[in-house]
Amino acid sequence: MQKNISLLGSTGSIGRNVTKVVRQFPGRFHIVGLAAGKNIQLLRDQIEAFHPQLVSVATRELAAELIGMLPAGWNEKILWGQEGNIRVATLPQADTVVSSIVGGAGLMPTLAAIQAGKNIALANKETLVMAGDLVMREARRNKVELLPIDSEHNAIFQALAAGRKEDVHKIILTASGGPFREKDERNLWDVTPEEALNHPNWDMGNKISIDSATLMNKGLEVIEARWLFDIDVENIEVLVHPQSIVHSLVEYIDGSVIAQMGIPDMRIPITYALSWPERLKTGLSRLNLAQCMDLNFFPPDFNRFPALKLAYQACKKGGTFPAILNASNEIAVQAFLNRKIRFPEISLVVAETLNRLPQKSIKDISTVLDADLAARMQAESIVEALHIKFKQMTGQEIDTPELPERVNTRNLQK
Ligand code: MG
Repeated sequence: MQKNISLLGSTGSIGRNVTKVVRQFPGRFHIVGLAAGKNIQLLRDQIEAFHPQLVSVATRELAAELIGMLPAGWNEKILWGQEGNIRVATLPQADTVVSSIVGGAGLMPTLAAIQAGKNIALANKETLVMAGDLVMREARRNKVELLPIDSEHNAIFQALAAGRKEDVHKIILTASGGPFREKDERNLWDVTPEEALNHPNWDMGNKISIDSATLMNKGLEVIEARWLFDIDVENIEVLVHPQSIVHSLVEYIDGSVIAQMGIPDMRIPITYALSWPERLKTGLSRLNLAQCMDLNFFPPDFNRFPALKLAYQACKKGGTFPAILNASNEIAVQAFLNRKIRFPEISLVVAETLNRLPQKSIKDISTVLDADLAARMQAESIVEALHIKFKQMTGQEIDTPELPERVNTRNLQK
């Protein structure tokens, strides 16, 4: 049966991999809607390749520019902003929505898609980090499938098929450890955005690459797993596994541990999330265990990477804390990329924002959105204070031109 897909975040790292999968299986998958941010050159190519019913971009200006790049007749079909994303996410022709917008901006379109009864292939972690309880309730109420694309969660989803939910002892998320796994704590103050963006195993967008370097990405994944698999956070463990071959594991009460392995290529979890319960021949290079270097595992260093500890704490406290964690981290990561703060200060900004804002229980989505906004404003002011302090300390200006949207040149996923 052919799946009609609305793809949110089509020009990002996940989105581009989804379009490769769709091209590979033209009879299986069909794109009916596309939502992207600012990369309208690539979006134009995608429109020409897939002829979607509806398209959305970040702003009205970009929509006008995109219309100018397309043949006549597209005016009505090009929308913009959150409203445009929601229209693409709820397109009547779509039965499946791939949610791969980066950051908190993914929440409302994904929630709208769930409420419109679409099955979700979920790459956007923030949907569950910010409003996991509420989103999972909506998913159950609307009887939609939430299939994880994130490689760790996709692995757990597969490993959970080996037993009954009540027999699960714990789940173990693996983490590559990022580029600074072996760096001394003091030297972390001097790392540049370019060094932080150079991830050893995965080719990803800028935000998630920095999150991998701080281990905040793993922290967000712990919270995502807590809701997606309905498991207490005490029963979720993180293990550093530098080779990124074992994508995650489930331990059962009898002592059996089930792992999912594969080469680090996002097309494998994407294809599975779209074809489940079937498996398709991806044609990708096979995992050759005999040729594998050693597979190592060790516990994460919570002192050098406090972001992971903050995420565990926010998850335990619950309510609006995970949304505050996420929003302040987004602001701090952007400030680091803009060279306004230094690498260890990313976690400082998050910790301080969590300190300053009250915890609220989540009644409805507006509680989440209010906490998100308040955290962004609070984090901005902390960033400014740190930035001024740094300039005074060194007597220098650390502002330099902004980085291009993608500077990560590693390409394991051609
Ligand atoms: Mg992941």
